[in-house]
Amino acid sequence: MLPLVALVGRPNVGKSTLFNVLTRTRDALVHDEPGVTRDRNYGVARPEGRPAFAVVDTGGIAGEDEGLAGATARQARAAAEEADVVLFVVDGREGPSALDDEILQWLRRTGRPTVLVVNKTDGIDAQQALNEFVRYGLSDRIAVAASHRHGVDALLARVYAHLPEEGAAPVLDEDPTRIRVAFIGRPNVGKSTLVNRLLGEERMIASEVPGTTRDSVSIDMERDGRRYRLIDTAGLRRRSRVDEAVEKFSAFKTLAAIEQCQVAVVLLDGSEGITDQDATVLSYALDAGRALVIAVNKWDGLTEYQRDQAQALLSRKLGFVDWAEAVRISAKHGSGLRELFAAIHRAHASATKEFSTSEVTRAVEIAYETNPPPTVRGHVAKMRFAHPAGSNPPTFVVHGTRLRTLSDTYRRYLENFFRKRFKLVGTPVRFVFKEGA
Ligand code: GDP
Ligand code: GDP
Repeated sequence: MLPLVALVGRPNVGKSTLFNVLTRTRDALVHDEPGVTRDRNYGVARPEGRPAFAVVDTGGIAGEDEGLAGATARQARAAAEEADVVLFVVDGREGPSALDDEILQWLRRTGRPTVLVVNKTDGIDAQQALNEFVRYGLSDRIAVAASHRHGVDALLARVYAHLPEEGAAPVLDEDPTRIRVAFIGRPNVGKSTLVNRLLGEERMIASEVPGTTRDSVSIDMERDGRRYRLIDTAGLRRRSRVDEAVEKFSAFKTLAAIEQCQVAVVLLDGSEGITDQDATVLSYALDAGRALVIAVNKWDGLTEYQRDQAQALLSRKLGFVDWAEAVRISAKHGSGLRELFAAIHRAHASATKEFSTSEVTRAVEIAYETNPPPTVRGHVAKMRFAHPAGSNPPTFVVHGTRLRTLSDTYRRYLENFFRKRFKLVGTPVRFVFKEGA
């Protein structure tokens, strides 16, 4: 399923720069949502026309002696040991250092396929920079300049050479009558309680989907005559209290589940507000463009006052995803589940709705007439026609001129206009702007 690529290297060689280059979402609007933390070390690369893969920036592998928290180092190692390919990033200006040597030793022991990425080769002799590292004995090596995006395509080619053939392709289904749902959220929000509740109720007709992957298992389920596939439910089942490092590593499982689902249900703990970890999980779902339902769990345990507070907090903190329905549930008591599934259906229907070119063009025309974009340096952007270009999320290509001058505000206006006109709930909406007729 979702392959994993690990960035390994000493501090300051350009790992996080490379991470951003690889995982930057095409959709700047999604990327810059206020309130979504960008401080995270997992992301998904979605190169045009190629299968997606997860990327982890391991931060620091070596150097734990110099004060790097043990848990961080353990987590980094765990991620690298699981990776399909390791990108060993070094600084082409400074050449090999003692710390690089140490990391190399460690990488040799892991036996993971490794590409040596000699970074910061902008403005210097790239070949000479590469030669400095010949003694590392890594035949797979490449010169790049991450901050200039130089060599990134060649690097991607190296990466794909190490990934399983079609292993990256999400299980885009076999069975269109089933909605693929992933219940995601930080630890302890109630995911396994919810899934066990659902499966307990429906035990007779729930069945495991034969293993497709390393250690994720999906489960097929029916409820009220509708069919679902719960993605990566094994990851949700209560394990024995695992090592902190491994717990952290479950960010990868979340990404993998999101990749395979159509609707992501993000669980929050109503009694605890919204944490940074919640925001990170949300941002994963947003980046993937999945249909989204927010389930505020543990509603049973709250007093009237707490409920009011939780409600206020939600509308304040989740304003940037106000298109997603928020449902209050109690996994423990099984309340709110009917509403939850109704929201899942509405989100799925919106995400997979089909559009005709004429209705999309018409919508753009009306949006434009109602509220033309402001003049920028004496010119106005013109939107001439548009057509649908995909679903989950609904994607629209708009053709016109000076479209680059459209502000984020205007793009949001267009998005909201479409939501209203086509009654879309629970799904992101994407626009691709193409210059020219
Ligand atoms: P990390 O600690 O390995 O994650 O490194 P960072 O990504 O934070 O980069 C460290 C510094 O190197 C930053 O100041 C970057 O702007 C700079 N840097 C990253 N990539 C390049 C590059 O390709 N060329 C140059 N000249 N500088 C770079
Ligand atoms: P997970 O880590 O997201 O799978 O969370 P669990 O399902 O293991 O739940 C964590 C804790 O929250 C457990 O002690 C559950 O009993 C409790 N919990 C889960 N759902 C609810 C709920 O709806 N109400 C209350 N009061 N507690 C809940």
